[in-house]
Amino acid sequence: MINFMEFNYSEKNFFNAISDKTISFHYNKHLKAYVDKTNELIAGSDFSEMTLEDIILASYDKPEFVALYNNAGQVYNHNVYFNSFGFSKKINDDLKSEMIRTFGSMENLKEELVKASVGVFGSGWTWLVRDKNNNLKIMTTRNGDTPLVLGYEPLFNIDVWEHAYYLDYQNLRKVYVEKFIDNVLGL
Ligand code: MN
Repeated sequence: MINFMEFNYSEKNFFNAISDKTISFHYNKHLKAYVDKTNELIAGSDFSEMTLEDIILASYDKPEFVALYNNAGQVYNHNVYFNSFGFSKKINDDLKSEMIRTFGSMENLKEELVKASVGVFGSGWTWLVRDKNNNLKIMTTRNGDTPLVLGYEPLFNIDVWEHAYYLDYQNLRKVYVEKFIDNVLGL
């Protein structure tokens, strides 16, 4: 059994980036559905005692487990996403210096995250990750794919599936992404 993460959206500060209605649907309907489907798929199998991360790694690139990989991946991606709210509080002086050293400035980091997010064709995710050499890197993934299987450690992500912003911004992904990044980076 994998867990439905705790997320008290009424206590979070979204800086008006996303409405309570969107957050409520996203967490209570979309994420809950991925958790339920994953648990349905692992029930009674060797996967049922595994951690979420191990389920993803064990089902990756195996055609017979593609539904499990996609659903478990989406649980992982959303767990990172809902923990990205309030990420700005985790940006200490060291991390901020590293971000500026790597990307030139906080504004430029934002600009590169926006550009990457707008460039995702269809559904997917934008990530700030650490690579194997501990360097910061921006990357995108498609659908339910996750950087976990490629050995990257996520700091935060941005959900660019339409369900993340459509109620608030309709087709205006860029506006949603800009506001979301302002929140995450504390800009
Ligand atoms: Mn989502």
